[in-house]
Amino acid sequence: MSQVTFNQLLDDVPLYTPVEVSGFLCDDTVKQQTSSFTPAGYTPAPFKTTRVSGTLKPSLYCGSDGCNNYTYFEILTTSEQHLILANTAIHRLAYRCCNCEQKSYEFYLEITPSVSGDADNNTIFKIQKVGQQPRHGKAIPKKASKLIGKERNLFFKGSISENQGMGIGAFSYYRRVIDSQKDKIFDEIIKVLNLTTGNEVLIQELTDAKAETQFTKAVDKIKTALPDGLKISGYDPLKLLYQALSEGLHNHTDEECLENAHDIKLVLFQFSERLDSALKDDAELSSAINRLARKGK
Ligand SMILES: [Zn+2]
Repeated sequence: MSQVTFNQLLDDVPLYTPVEVSGFLCDDTVKQQTSSFTPAGYTPAPFKTTRVSGTLKPSLYCGSDGCNNYTYFEILTTSEQHLILANTAIHRLAYRCCNCEQKSYEFYLEITPSVSGDADNNTIFKIQKVGQQPRHGKAIPKKASKLIGKERNLFFKGSISENQGMGIGAFSYYRRVIDSQKDKIFDEIIKVLNLTTGNEVLIQELTDAKAETQFTKAVDKIKTALPDGLKISGYDPLKLLYQALSEGLHNHTDEECLENAHDIKLVLFQFSERLDSALKDDAELSSAINRLARKGK
């Protein structure tokens, strides 16, 4: 079972996937139980409450108009009541965006205490997310939605499948999106390549490759590497997507497909960032050149 942070659990771990989490609780000081029904002369036993740390503010995606980005979320006091963690139980936690104070998330977590502790002596808990509202996990960043375009709906379904741990489903949806949006992806690359000279061969290869229906077959035809500015950690993103997609479905377990689906999504998101910043850099550069040219007149 993999160990994740509490933030990763909320943001990125699919439903019904047990993981180990520690260090998200804070112990309140020992409290004296007070009750209006306490009989005279009886001193109730003090008890220690445990709650999810309120100072722990997870970074989650906020889709409100004002935010449209990852922001910090704070736990709503109603869900901050003490948790009884002696046995396996489902707990509801609600979080609200600290920035717009509008968007909120609800999580249902099945928590099982474990006997072991982490390096800092915090108890490790086995937790699985058994419910989430709104149901999608990571939202599509604005820049990536440009590449995903009209296939937004299919991509969303892929994301839901991924969030629920359905690897074959997620992989199939993402592959469909990339096959369908292949021309759009290639066109965006061509736009960047057209900003500088010397890319004629690659532009021609990309244009020719559009004739293929499948993304992998199209990438097979491209022999020239993408410029360094579009690479992700030194790797050609088209080749990375190619590798993940050409793995296919048949020889792999659902877990392996889930991993591939996750990688496809991340590479696509990163690639859209690269394309966007390459275009923006150029726009900034040309406006600077224009400004200087005007001054020179
Ligand atoms: Zn917000």
